[in-house]
Amino acid sequence: MFFSTNTMSQQPYKRTLKLMGSRFDITVVANNESEGNEYIDLAISEITRIEKLISSWNNQSQTSLINQNAGIKPVKVDHELFSLIERAIAISNLTDGAFDVSYASMDKIWKFDGSMTTMPAEEAIKASVSKVGFKNIILDKENNTVFLKQKGMKIGFGAIGKGYAADKAKTLLMQKGVVSGIINASGDMNTWGKQPDGSDWQVAITNPLNKNKAFAILPITDGAVVTSGDYEKYVTFNGTKYTHIIDPRTGYPATGITSVSVFAPKAELADALATSVFVMGIETGINRINQIPKVECIIIDEKGNIFTSDNIKIDTK
Ligand code: ADP
Ligand code: MG
Repeated sequence: MFFSTNTMSQQPYKRTLKLMGSRFDITVVANNESEGNEYIDLAISEITRIEKLISSWNNQSQTSLINQNAGIKPVKVDHELFSLIERAIAISNLTDGAFDVSYASMDKIWKFDGSMTTMPAEEAIKASVSKVGFKNIILDKENNTVFLKQKGMKIGFGAIGKGYAADKAKTLLMQKGVVSGIINASGDMNTWGKQPDGSDWQVAITNPLNKNKAFAILPITDGAVVTSGDYEKYVTFNGTKYTHIIDPRTGYPATGITSVSVFAPKAELADALATSVFVMGIETGINRINQIPKVECIIIDEKGNIFTSDNIKIDTK
């Protein structure tokens, strides 16, 4: 008789690749390499599917259709996209508009790909915010349609899409029986289960002022941690650093904070809130996070000071 000893030999298998314009590291625990590869392929196809739905670069995507029809007519979309927009609007309400899925018309003003040579004109900045406003997104639940009321309005999932994709990939793999893994979307980390030796997955929070040094290593089981930082996409004018997270109320990039890490049960919420805290600032941000159950945050300001929500204690030695 043959007894399988497979469960004794479970191992993590990892692949790194570019998806949604970002680096993804996908780790799954499996019995052998071919099983591991199969699972990783599944995760990749799920993330690619979501990218097609929410991409603003692909002018055929449902998201682009919504934008092309701003001020013209409602667009019927998949229920999945409809619900994502619905949740994004809920986060706008939760953050008093610090997070706004209709931020995207401001992207015409601020560019973080090195193409900007001068500070945008005050007038242009003001004009760009006039098109921003989640209250002008009209959802029709019965028909699954989305209508952007104003011409020139645009939605974009830059601050929530990677987290959503990571959640969906994780859910799919769990349904397929994958016992444990990590989906890391450029620092948007989503884990489930434990390492094969029974220990928790460890998540390193990088120190933004010294990227080679993690300043805290924390265990996480079945949850997400997302870090938004000002150290990757930014421009500098007259010695001031302008980051890619923009205050929808002013049109100006958020200042003062260098990085925000948010812990939450889902990466989607963590992703959106990390962006929001940047805009809300340290005090308002921490107060708001303290009011949300099962959500915590760590903020580092531009001088390197560390602030945390009530239930986080870190040893920074
Ligand atoms: P990263 O993509 O670097 O992890 P974030 O998750 O914080 O960073 O998302 C930042 C992106 O979100 C920006 O590049 C932009 O596309 C979009 N964005 C900027 N400001 C806002 C805002 N106030 N609300 C919603 N999305 C925003
Ligand atoms: Mg985010």
